[in-house]
Amino acid sequence: MAENLKDVVRRVESAVQRSSSKKPARLVAVGKTKPVELVQEAYEAGHRDFGENYVQELLDKAPKLPEDIRWHFIGHLQSNKAKMLVEGVPSLTAIETVDSEKLANKLENALEGQSRPPLEVFVQVNTSGEESKYGVEPSDVVSLAKYIKESCPHLKFSGLMTIGMQDYTSRPENFQSLTECRAKVCEALGLKAEDVELSMGMSGDFEQAIEMGSTNVRVGSTIFGERYYPNKDEANKHDNA
Ligand SMILES: *Cc1c(COP(=O)(O)O)cnc(C)c1O
Repeated sequence: MAENLKDVVRRVESAVQRSSSKKPARLVAVGKTKPVELVQEAYEAGHRDFGENYVQELLDKAPKLPEDIRWHFIGHLQSNKAKMLVEGVPSLTAIETVDSEKLANKLENALEGQSRPPLEVFVQVNTSGEESKYGVEPSDVVSLAKYIKESCPHLKFSGLMTIGMQDYTSRPENFQSLTECRAKVCEALGLKAEDVELSMGMSGDFEQAIEMGSTNVRVGSTIFGERYYPNKDEANKHDNA
């Protein structure tokens, strides 16, 4: 595993060199379905940014792992679980999957009265047009980003995130679409592109995503090994749960 991690870190760095902005990209190591010991091993190898996408799994894992891990929640978050997640994971750094004002409000309320830095949030965008995907339509990104920036003082609008196709094949048009969404957000909210992150790219396409401007890639199986599910439907359900 440590070798895989090192290799991915190296590949991230060389993709950054090939990108036009040369802006460093954060590697979020996605340990979903994998045991705490494996995450601990990556931590000991020096890694600090980790991602999980099931609320219960993160609530179970976080207390068993070092407090300085920067947790990224990357799964679908039901608004009725927002409070539980925020309170149960003190070192939660980012939620990459905010896709409604309702969820933003629940997070905002959960953070009120807590003395912690603003929670970074990414607006999840459905760039592939698939019905099963969560995320806002590209045409609704500006209004949600504006809402978070102007009405949620305990949240920090950090950028945009997309998952891409269900079979995780590389789709440059999804990355292109997210980049276009960022341009619209920057124009509408008076932000600079370098201040709005793009979270795109997974095991199969993280290098291409970085070359196209990703600043945050989420890599699971290439680091921790394949995930095993009883069947493919189950895998899709889990990966999008
Ligand atoms: C599982 C998952 C990943 C990592 O997937 P790999 O293909 O194993 O790298 C990235 N992003 C999200 C949202 C995921 O659910």
